[in-house]
Amino acid sequence: MENGTKSGLRPRPNLGLGRVVGDPVQLKPSAPQSRPSLMQAPVLVLNATFEPINVTAVRRALVLVLKGVAQAEESHHAEVHSTSKSVLVPSVIRLVAYRHIPQQSRALSRKNILLRDRNTCQFCGQAFPASELTLDHVMPRSRGGRSSWENLVACCYSCNNHKGDRTPEEAGLKLQRRPRPFTLHTSRQLMRLMGHRDEKWRKYLFY
Ligand SMILES: [Zn+2]
Repeated sequence: MENGTKSGLRPRPNLGLGRVVGDPVQLKPSAPQSRPSLMQAPVLVLNATFEPINVTAVRRALVLVLKGVAQAEESHHAEVHSTSKSVLVPSVIRLVAYRHIPQQSRALSRKNILLRDRNTCQFCGQAFPASELTLDHVMPRSRGGRSSWENLVACCYSCNNHKGDRTPEEAGLKLQRRPRPFTLHTSRQLMRLMGHRDEKWRKYLFY
């Protein structure tokens, strides 16, 4: 699972909003509702100005709502129960106070590289579960290749083994596309892609 250790990178749990919540709030969903899949479902995060800025998981979104950092704009029909109250499971939340989001707010991590590459091996073009992907240094580290957005790509084990310590050209492999840093533009594209799955997101993403 921890293929990221190969490149010395560690996955960061949240993207871009790491500074919003400091101390974690204990959330205790009651037994019947604590379906792990629901708690992991994606939630669109809007800035106070309704500008989409991030995608997070239900669990984290609920913490933001319960702490009063954000409020739910759209919700699912399901409910979760904290110690004192029940809350509808949010689908879209909005930050109460405006946050300045730097253009380049994504940390270089295994998780973000897989996200950028959409869990697709950049050599054979096939999509894989995250557990079946590793990170490949396009220019091998043994030859001075750096751990950077431009030199790291998602790669399946088969392509990774085949490539070994060679450049793509030497191994007869071709990159699907030139690896780029994760920009706000990339985030927007991903949010729109995910937005197609949730009707409630549409009006915030397709404006
Ligand atoms: Zn591959």
